[in-house]
Amino acid sequence: MTAAELPALTISELQPLLRGGAVSPGEVVDALQSRISEIEPQIDAYIALDFEAAKHEANAADLSLPLGGIPIAVKDIISVAGQRCTCASRSLSNYIAPYDATLIRKLKAAGAIPLGRTNMDEFAMGSSTENSSVKITLNPWDKSRVPGGSSGGSAAAVAAGAAFGALGTDTGGSIRQPAAFCGIVGLKPSYGRVSRFGVVAFASSLDQAGPLTKTTRDAALLMNAIAGVDPQDSTSLPEPVPDYTQLLGREIRGIRIGLPKEYTTDGIDPQVKAAVDAAVTQLQALGAEISELSLPHTEYAVAVYYVLATAEASANLARFDGVRYGHRTEGVANLVEHYERTRAEGFGAEVKRRIILGTYVLSSGYYDAFYLRAQKVRELIRRDFVEAFKKVDLLISPTSPVPAFKIGERTADPLQMYLADIFTIAANLAGICAISLPCGFATSESGTQLPVGLQLLASSLDEARLLQVAHAFEQSTDWHQRRPPL
Ligand code: GLN
Repeated sequence: MTAAELPALTISELQPLLRGGAVSPGEVVDALQSRISEIEPQIDAYIALDFEAAKHEANAADLSLPLGGIPIAVKDIISVAGQRCTCASRSLSNYIAPYDATLIRKLKAAGAIPLGRTNMDEFAMGSSTENSSVKITLNPWDKSRVPGGSSGGSAAAVAAGAAFGALGTDTGGSIRQPAAFCGIVGLKPSYGRVSRFGVVAFASSLDQAGPLTKTTRDAALLMNAIAGVDPQDSTSLPEPVPDYTQLLGREIRGIRIGLPKEYTTDGIDPQVKAAVDAAVTQLQALGAEISELSLPHTEYAVAVYYVLATAEASANLARFDGVRYGHRTEGVANLVEHYERTRAEGFGAEVKRRIILGTYVLSSGYYDAFYLRAQKVRELIRRDFVEAFKKVDLLISPTSPVPAFKIGERTADPLQMYLADIFTIAANLAGICAISLPCGFATSESGTQLPVGLQLLASSLDEARLLQVAHAFEQSTDWHQRRPPL
C-alpha cells in the first residue's frame, strides 16, 4: 500500500493498518493532504482546512480507541471548538465556535480527528450546495452537475476520496440526497438519536446530524461514536445505544420490506426507476419479503415541510441580528436601520425567502390556517408510518426522483428545487431513521455516469436493522466500489 492509495480506503480498512502500525496517523493526514490538494481545485468541497492542527492531533492519537487516528470531515454547521463555523453564510463568516458540539466531543473521545469544514447550502437551506455564499461544489462524477445538498461538500469529499468519512445534517434530506447524487452512503438517524447541541439550528423539530461514508459498515462505526443521550439536548433519546455493527453480515431472509405505492408514481426518472426496481429484485433474491403498501398522506409532505421548516427557521435565525450573533453593519442612524441592513447584508436570497415565508405562516391571522394546520397534517404523516411499520420492518424508495442535475438548472425555480426532496422529507416529519446507499447508475445525455441512490426507511431507533439490510444489499452488489473519474 503506497501513501497515494491510502485515501481510497474505507474507515474499516484503515483501522487495522493504523492499529497494526503499518501506517501512522501522521502519515494518514499527510496522504489525505496530498489527495485533497490534488482534488480540491476540481470539486471545491471544503470551506476550510487546517492540516497543522490535524497533524498535531494525529501525533497524540490513541490508537486503542474505536476511531483512533481517523480524520473525519465536518459540515460547516457543526461546532468544533476554536474553528470557524460559518454555515456558508456571510452573516457568520467570522464566527469561531467557542465549544465542541456534543457529537464532536464524542467523535474526539472515540479518537477521531475533525479535519476540514465542508461546503453546504447557507444554513442548510437547499438541495444543491448552490446556496453557499462561499462557492459552488461540483459533483465528482460530472463536474457540470451539483453534488446535491445541503451537505454537498461532505458528500463530494467522501466520494472523491478527499475524506474517509464526513458528518452532515439532515432536516429534509440533506444527508441522503447528496449521498445519492455522489454515490456514497448517507444515514439520517432517528430524531433525537444524535445530540443537536452545538449544531446550528435550522428547523429544530426536524434537524438530525449523521454520517456520510463510503460503506454501510463505516456508517455504523461513526454512529457508534456519535449516538446517544445528551443532558444538553432535551430532545435527545435516553435509550441505550446498540453496537450498530452487530447485525452486519446477518442474513435478511424473512425481513419484510414495504414498497409505498405513493413513491413509485410519475415524475421518477426512468433510469432511477430501473435501478430501484433492480434493487428490489435483488433484496427479494436475498430473502426479503416485498409487499406493496400505502402512505396515504405522502402528497402533503413537501407542503407541510415548507410551512414548518420555514416557521422554525424564522425563529431560529432571529439570533443573527448583529447584536447577539453574526455580521453587524456599520454607520446606521437608528435601530430599525441596524436590523434591516445587518440582516439584508448577512443573508443570501434563499435564507431571506425562508425567513419571510416562515414569519408569514406564524403571523396572526395566518397561524391557524398554515402553521397549525401543517402540524396536524404532520401528525397524519407520522401515523402513516406507524401503521406501515405494523405490517413491515422497512420501507424502500428512490432517494431522489432524479440523478444529480446540472448546475444552475433549478436555481431560478425554488419549487423545482424543493421537489428534489420529495422522497426524503417525510422521514424527518415522522422522526424515523433512513439511509441512502448506491444502487446503480444513470447515463447522462453527455455520457457521464451518475450515481442512483436507494432509500431504506425504518421506525424510530431501528438504525441497526436499517444498516443490516443496507449492508446485505451493498455486499451483494459492487456499486459501492465504483469511484468517480477524477
Ligand atoms: N433541501 C431541503 C431544504 O432546502 C432540506 C434541507 C436539509 O435537509 N437541511 O430545506
